[in-house]
Amino acid sequence: MFFERSGSLYIGRFRELFRNRRLIHGFSTRPGGVSGVPFDTLNLGQNTSDDPGCVKENRNRFFQAVEISETQAVIPGQVHGVRIVRVTDPGIFPDTDGVITDAPGLALTVQTADCVPVFLVDPSRPAIGLVHAGWKGSALGIAAEGVRAMQEAFGSRPETLDIFLGPSIGPCCYEVGPDVAGRFEPGYVSGNRLDLWRYNVDMMIQSGARPERISTARLCTKCQPQWFFSHRARGGDAGRMLAVLAIQNKNGNE
Ligand SMILES: [Zn+2]
Repeated sequence: MFFERSGSLYIGRFRELFRNRRLIHGFSTRPGGVSGVPFDTLNLGQNTSDDPGCVKENRNRFFQAVEISETQAVIPGQVHGVRIVRVTDPGIFPDTDGVITDAPGLALTVQTADCVPVFLVDPSRPAIGLVHAGWKGSALGIAAEGVRAMQEAFGSRPETLDIFLGPSIGPCCYEVGPDVAGRFEPGYVSGNRLDLWRYNVDMMIQSGARPERISTARLCTKCQPQWFFSHRARGGDAGRMLAVLAIQNKNGNE
């Protein structure tokens, strides 16, 4: 992943995805927004205790930077579940942690502060998916569910999917208690640290995805507070970053 400057913002991009001119994608970072401590500065979370006016301005800046209209945003309610919805229109989707579409112009989004945003791309159709995988969703199998949903909805073959895992809490920092650790096979917990990246990657490989088509940003949100919001680093009241993925509208994304 590299970071592209756009005005006062820095947008995270996956090099392989960025080359695909039919798609638009990005991952937000902290600099360039208007929110104060602890949401400084580009807090995009709509369910935080931040000033809603600041969040609105931040979201305007982000959507402008990624060159897609916020009116086209698909916003999952995110409840750490495994429900994935195929969407054909923008809007808010309650009780949903993953969204998939083959409709051009729709901006799939996921909000995170440590959880793993998983980008799924079937380049042949094209069809796309974006999934929110925290420890609960991961343990419940949401990444595999994402692959399965793409297969079912669009006939996507798992072995041809391009998959990207965005910045999120890494195995360097993700300390979990025995109750959480017990939900994962021992190989994914080292000491008391959980490796959500490898867990989700392995799960998707078991679902038929090809290891060489899976890219992990390997950027830990807790390690780099200057760039990322981290729920763990803040002890709760953290800002939120946004992952976005869209199929380019042939007539532009207005
Ligand atoms: Zn770390």
